[in-house]
Parts: sequence; structure tokens; C-alpha cells
Amino acid sequence: MGSFDFEDLPDDSPKIVKLAYHVEAILKLLGEDTNREGLLKTPTRVAKAIEFLTSGSRNGNEESGNGIEKLLSSAVFTHEYDEMVLVKDIEFYSLCEHHLLPMYGKVHIAYIPNGKVVGLSKIPRLVDVFARRLQVQERLTTEIRNALQTYLDPKGAAVMIQAHHMCMMVRGVQKQQSTTMTVALSGDFLTDLKTREEFMLMALHKA
Ligand SMILES: [Zn+2]
Repeated sequence: MGSFDFEDLPDDSPKIVKLAYHVEAILKLLGEDTNREGLLKTPTRVAKAIEFLTSGSRNGNEESGNGIEKLLSSAVFTHEYDEMVLVKDIEFYSLCEHHLLPMYGKVHIAYIPNGKVVGLSKIPRLVDVFARRLQVQERLTTEIRNALQTYLDPKGAAVMIQAHHMCMMVRGVQKQQSTTMTVALSGDFLTDLKTREEFMLMALHKA
């Protein structure tokens, strides 16, 4: 995946202009002088950052599946490999839908192919599609699992997310370095204890 800089979004699209207008209003409400040098371009920068951080929701959602189908279908291959495939430590950056504050961390994804495998580079991109929207960690976890289950039809899919939530960290609700962990499983990972244990051990193993 090529890296994409949200600063490259056009400044003058109608949506960015509108978003920037409202960001400027928020800054004024906060008592800021939006004409001072440091803030001159801030409304547009924030508009572009928000647009980028929520772009996954316009990239197909769980219901329509369009973007995900397009993403995965180009890279699904028939292959008689039936051992677990695990991609771990996939970084993600999302926004909690309650505070619009960052949540970020790592996703570990496994599936057991049922005649179909997916190009490995597509898995981090699948994470981005669901992370770049207003989220809660639990839903992010199940949406990724459901997409894998739907489009790969594997014998089982497993997703584990370890995340930090800024809305908790800044308030000191928990220890600053605490991690919230969520897991979503399907198929063999649900029904077979050994398969589940193998996933958990491999996902949490520090290389
Ligand atoms: Zn929050």
C-alpha cells in the first residue's frame, strides 16, 4: 500500500471548505484568535485530517460491503492451504465515536483457509477501511472478523485488538499505559479450544 498523506487532499473541495468553516467556529468559541499566524491554516488542516480519518466509512461499510468486496476480490486466490494464516502487529489509528479522540494500537488477524487465501497486503488495508471511521473498539473487532468470514468464507476467522484510548488516558481513568483487549472469533476458533489457544499464543507472543 502506498502511503497517503492527508495533507495532499485538495483545499478547495466543497466539503473541506465547509468543514474548515465549522472548525474555525469551534476555535473562536474556544477563545482563539483564528487570524494569528499559527492558526491561519489550522481549520483547513483539521478538515483534511477529519476527512482522512473517516474515509473508511465512505469506502464501503459492513452492510453494503462494496469497498471491501472490491478490495478483497482482486486478491483472493484458490489455494489448498488449510493451516492457520496469521498477520500480527498491524498498526491502526481510529477515532472513538464518543469523544472523537484517537484510539490506536495493534490488530492481530488469523484465518483458516477453506480453499481460498487472500493476498497478505490486503489484510492491513482491510483494517484501515474499518479503522478510518468513527468507531468503538468492540465494533472494529467484529467488523473485521465479519468481513473476513463473509468474503473469504474460511473455516474460521480470529481478530484480536490491543488498543489505547486517548479519552481514557487524558482523564487518567486507568493507568496511562493500560491496554484494552478485544477478541472476535468465528468457526473453528470458536469450536476448537486448541485452535483458539494457538491463535492467542501466537498473537501475544513477543518476537
Ligand atoms: Zn472515547
